[in-house]
Parts: sequence; structure tokens; C-alpha cells
Amino acid sequence: MQRRELLLGLGAGLLTARTVLAQAPSGPHSLPPLAYAPNALEPHIDTRTMELHHGRHHAAYVNNLNTALKDHGEAAKLPLQDLLAKLAELPESIRTAVRNNGGGHANHSMFWSIMGPGGGQPAGALAEAIQRDFGGFDKLQEQFNAAGLRVFGSGWVFVTVDGAGKLAIVTRPNQDTPLMEGGRVLFGNDVWEHAYYLLYQNRRGDYLKAWWNVVNWAEVAKRYEAAKAGKLSI
Ligand code: MN
Repeated sequence: MQRRELLLGLGAGLLTARTVLAQAPSGPHSLPPLAYAPNALEPHIDTRTMELHHGRHHAAYVNNLNTALKDHGEAAKLPLQDLLAKLAELPESIRTAVRNNGGGHANHSMFWSIMGPGGGQPAGALAEAIQRDFGGFDKLQEQFNAAGLRVFGSGWVFVTVDGAGKLAIVTRPNQDTPLMEGGRVLFGNDVWEHAYYLLYQNRRGDYLKAWWNVVNWAEVAKRYEAAKAGKLSI
């Protein structure tokens, strides 16, 4: 291992789920630790789901991404958001693996960072943008939950944000992300069955409703300001 790669690896290992978003994470990629205990989101998301989802599912995406990039030095050094925006330029032999596992790594890193115990409501400039673009927080929740329910099979429901602070609800299948089109994600919810099945079984709608209790609005507000400043990465 080259010294530079070693330093990058050590640096990445020290990043938390929160700080990884403010910086530009580059390979070799590593699993960001949770910024809270696995039981912190009870009763809305159960401890066992958090342990498996973070420690097994997300860890596998990271490992598989690094394996795919192992013999592709230049791509391996790219910040994750740049790697995902340049999928079409990657060798075909690794494109699908990077799409699925790199997307999975970005989506889950975002997901852990915008959750936490406490709940509450958006405030300040973010609340104003939600009022402007959705007609209020209750309308946002209604439209977001409906979009999440409509995802057939595995996927995500996101709120995207552009450089002017404009918000929109979008869904993507599998581990795809608006980052793949150069967009930015303000926040999003994982509607793969692995995200909720132990506690909610087939009741995805109940999970979508309960999930709002564990959104960390202070963190989402930071992401909103970062996006407007052109500094939001993943
Ligand atoms: Mn997941």
C-alpha cells in the first residue's frame, strides 16, 4: 500500500457519519460509525434492524465497492460523489458493482447522518423552503410517504436540493441516487424491506409514518445550508 493510500485510509476511518458528509470522502472507502447507539431510534426503528442494517448491509456495500475498485487506482481515489457522477466513464466490468455498492454506501452514509433520537420539526430557512416548495411540513410528509409507498420493490425516496435551495421529492430503484445525475440529496428514507421488516413486516406505510420521529432536523438544516453554498457532497 502506498503511503498516500495508507493516510487516506486512516483518515477515512476517523470520520463519523456526520463529518463524512461535510468533507469529500474518497477511497479506500470505509463504514462511517453511527453517531448514536443502535437502540437510540427505538421504538420507531428497532435495535436489531439498526445493527444488521449498519453492521451487515452497509458494511457489505463498502467492502464490495472497495473490491470492485481494487485494480482501478484512479477511480478508487475519487470522492464518492464524483465516482457516482462518472459511472458512464468507468470500465464496463465494474460499472454495475460501483453503481450498486457505491450508491449503497452514499445512500446509507446520508441516511445514518440525518437520523437521531428526538424528532421535532424543521425550522428557519429550511422550514420556509418546505412551505414554499410543498405547501408546508404536513404536505411534505404526505407527498414523501405516498412516493415511498409507490416504490415497487427495493429503493429510496429522497428530497433533493439544488444550488438555489429548491426542494423536490424523487424516488430511485435499488441503490440508485440523484448523485448519479450530479444532483444533491437533502435527506431520504430507505424503503428496502431490510430497513423495516423485522418491526413492521409488510406495513411499509406504518414505517414511513413513524420514521419522521427520528429525523434529525438540525442536521438536515446543515445539509440545506451546505447545498446552497455548493459544499454538500453526499
Ligand atoms: Mn438499506
